[in-house]
Amino acid sequence: MNKATHSIATAIQHIKDELRSQEHRYGREPGSVQLLAVSKRKPVSAIREAIDAGQRAFGENYVDEALEKINAIPDKDIHWHFIGAIQSRKCTDIARHFHWAHGVDRLKVATRLSSARPAELPPLNVCLQVNLDDEPGKAGVSIEQLPELAQQCASLPGICIRGLMAIPAPRTQLDEQRAVFARLSQALSDLQSQWPEMDTLSMGMSADMEAAVAQGATIVRIGTALFGTREPAPDK
Ligand SMILES: *Cc1c(COP(=O)(O)O)cnc(C)c1O
Repeated sequence: MNKATHSIATAIQHIKDELRSQEHRYGREPGSVQLLAVSKRKPVSAIREAIDAGQRAFGENYVDEALEKINAIPDKDIHWHFIGAIQSRKCTDIARHFHWAHGVDRLKVATRLSSARPAELPPLNVCLQVNLDDEPGKAGVSIEQLPELAQQCASLPGICIRGLMAIPAPRTQLDEQRAVFARLSQALSDLQSQWPEMDTLSMGMSADMEAAVAQGATIVRIGTALFGTREPAPDK
């Protein structure tokens, strides 16, 4: 086993151990938080190492980069989650090649994903992205506009609205992180009275995973803590 393999496998085991102990600490069902390995800007070799260590779900932010990796890793049991900002012109590629899309924040994108999803595939799993801090210029619908968007998207064929996703502004204190995630959790509970099948809270990254688990995350999206630091985003 070379050193790199050892370190990614070790990091995965370490994060899983942390998740299991945090589930226990906060009274969550064992195994109720899924680890999504965020492999953006990491090579196929790193993803392969994670797969060898038992990881099956990967998150990618850039469509073209992701398609190269999906082609290089055609394994049927690997699930690909698109977690980046969704441009209308990329909807067809996302609908054809991914299992999940986390960043849906407007009807136009939902409609395009819906009509581009191939009939032979199961519905694309979708999380509606919420801009929890009302940050200008940040993706996501406001909490106030969320019920209307959910209503508009819920009946679209080819996609299944599974729940909510958010990337809050960075905070360092655990209780502050928990307070903001609590708002996403509450928003999901409100929607569940009408749509009990919505079961997903995609929240928590390397720096705020514990707070997310404490507030009911079902998917945590972890990059840096698994694969190390990344190169800066390429200029577009
Ligand atoms: C990059 C990214 C992550 C992972 O962030 P880390 O801090 O590296 O764990 C999670 N979610 C989204 C949407 C991202 O873009």
